[in-house]
Amino acid sequence: LVRVRFAPSPTGFLHLGGLRTALYNYLFAKKANGRFILRIEDTDQTRRVKGAAEKIIEDLSWAGIEIDEGPNIGGKYGPYVQSERLDLYRTEVKKLLENGNAYYCFCTERRLELLRKEALRTRQVPKYDNKCRHLTPVQIAEKLTNNKEFCIRFKLESYTEPIDDLVYGKVAYDVAENEGDPVIIKSDGFPTYHFANVVDDHFMNITHVLRGVEWQISTTKHLLLYKAFGWRPPKFGHLPLLINADGTKLSKRQGDIHISHYRDSGILPQALVNYVTQAGGGFIRQQGLKPKSYTMTELSSQFDVSVINSHPSKLNPDLLDQCNRLEIIRQLNDPKGYQKLVSEVINLVKQKYGKKETELDLDVNHVKNILQTTACRISSIQELVGKKLSFLWILPKTEIGDLPKETLDELLKGLEQQEFNKTPINKFLKDFASKEQLKFSTFMRSLRSILSGLDEGPAVAEMMELLGKDVTLRRIRGASN
Ligand code: GLU
Repeated sequence: LVRVRFAPSPTGFLHLGGLRTALYNYLFAKKANGRFILRIEDTDQTRRVKGAAEKIIEDLSWAGIEIDEGPNIGGKYGPYVQSERLDLYRTEVKKLLENGNAYYCFCTERRLELLRKEALRTRQVPKYDNKCRHLTPVQIAEKLTNNKEFCIRFKLESYTEPIDDLVYGKVAYDVAENEGDPVIIKSDGFPTYHFANVVDDHFMNITHVLRGVEWQISTTKHLLLYKAFGWRPPKFGHLPLLINADGTKLSKRQGDIHISHYRDSGILPQALVNYVTQAGGGFIRQQGLKPKSYTMTELSSQFDVSVINSHPSKLNPDLLDQCNRLEIIRQLNDPKGYQKLVSEVINLVKQKYGKKETELDLDVNHVKNILQTTACRISSIQELVGKKLSFLWILPKTEIGDLPKETLDELLKGLEQQEFNKTPINKFLKDFASKEQLKFSTFMRSLRSILSGLDEGPAVAEMMELLGKDVTLRRIRGASN
């Protein structure tokens, strides 16, 4: 059984890179009928942000990524929060101390600082010199009895064999050549990322690790840990960096890459999901297909890790609008999605125009008509409540305008027979004006005012098309009474 995990540290909110990692794991699991696990990696207590884990869960759920096991729903390999698994790490580290793969280190922060300074002075990469590897059992016992502060380090050995990365192919990195022995249990008793991550992946029966490429150089360290424990490692695949279209790095601090930013600006969840999947590839799609918005099921059936492009994935913001538009169109053509979309618009309008609910035009058919007529032009449903389009929702105060009742009644009769598309409407209005001997521009101004209460706005025929027959006739009737 395929078991994958998304293992964020709750140091901030979910951003696009994190969403991509979660999503690719999710699609991988779904395609293989496997399980998608959420694990919160909160061993660095100093960087923990309150509420971040809850927010990550909320954002994943908004994006339509369903968790099979995790802190919010449990599962038989729990707990799924690392700070609740400290006993396990304590037990496991003993095994490595006993089999000689780990050791107590009593080096003070001051000594480590001196090592760092010396390395900088001689232009070398700072690394721990593995001094405490060589302490004798007697020395260790003595320091422990004297309550000397300690951490536990893992003995690195050389690792020259290339590893098979599911995305990058063969990659080699000899960690021992580049780093000193890493701390696995800190002096506060908490494990470090590397240790807890490996122990948990093992005990949670994780079969495949898909994570950001920034973790690729940690993989040999992890493989050495598996070896020291005598465990079988999972398969590893690293996902290329997500970057801006101009090649610059996305920064976590840029508010605009937080998932909630997109949600708040009217991007639909599945649109964001499509957007992210387009940047990095990994999908087998038929050539020549018209661009469309894919459902999760379509995405997972087309997903193939081996076709992920290992170059950095460029995000093109223009594509996001297109994805959102395509998703609006997809939902409109789907009987279920359709109702959801309509109710989202209704909520949006209510929110925007507040208390005047009775003065709003919000019946389902009206909303449906507006969505159908505008779908190809808008890139977000938020645009439908923009200033220029307020007439779509707000019933104008009835204007006792300059058009006599008889003219309006005649107009109503004619419009009732009319097909509600802007071209035929326009022709009808022109013919009507000349038949009634009305000056066209004055006639249009009066009609616009009746329909919208506005002096300016889209062409009247277009307004009518957007408003649809029912609402148009109702507003004209209002003015004729
Ligand atoms: N906690 C790590 C992170 O924040 C997880 C890395 C991994 O997936 O191994 O990205």
